Amino acid sequence: MIITIDGPAGTGKSTVARLLAKRLEYRYLDTGALYRVITYQALKNKISADDPARMAKLLKSIRVSFKEGKASQQVMLNGKNLTGEIRRPHITNNVYQYAELPLVRKAMLKIQREIGKKHSIVGEGRDLGSVVFPDAKIKFYLNATVKERALRRYKELKKKGIKDSYSKVLKEIKERDKRDTTRKLAPLRKAKGAIRVDTTSLSIQQVINKLLKLACCILEADRLIQIK
Ligand code: C5P
Repeated sequence: MIITIDGPAGTGKSTVARLLAKRLEYRYLDTGALYRVITYQALKNKISADDPARMAKLLKSIRVSFKEGKASQQVMLNGKNLTGEIRRPHITNNVYQYAELPLVRKAMLKIQREIGKKHSIVGEGRDLGSVVFPDAKIKFYLNATVKERALRRYKELKKKGIKDSYSKVLKEIKERDKRDTTRKLAPLRKAKGAIRVDTTSLSIQQVINKLLKLACCILEADRLIQIK
């Protein structure tokens, strides 16, 4: 069983996907973390997105794995825990350069599909329902107003001690939305058959309840159709 949740930053999809996966006893697949790890490693080794030979070498050398932690999922690169590092604004603001490279997307596609073959998953990202798992039985597209998404991100950064202003966060979210929706390869968009859910005025728990109800409806409808 594959459940995909796509949408722009700040819609709550990471928290929702992780808790939904826990509830259903599925694996949680955070695909943004994969692109963030690549970005971290490329920046650390001063590899420009314009250098395909070095990028190809980097992609061959990495082993990304996930470990369930108490409060969040831990992301490991070649055994090193990078969970905190990859969420830093410096990484967030540079991911797009690497995420739009065909060789990066091809390598990530393979990793994601391999995980999907082995486990039932709740996966979240930008292109899970449209490109990675187009045949997923249940697809969601989460959205919220850009102001609400920026406010959530601003509060999250503040909690981590990062003192960026609200207007800076809003500007960065708008830029990221533009880059993610207009890139040539696997742009962010609502996948065919995905159910759109607006999370602007909903709590995380309300979103989870809504997705659970919708997922159960789809599965039950499928069962009834098959009986007929
Ligand atoms: O979801 P998260 O904010 O961690 O994603 C970081 C960035 O990684 C996105 O802004 C996007 O550029 C890229 N990404 C992607 N495809 C995905 C998930 C993330 O291109 N499936």
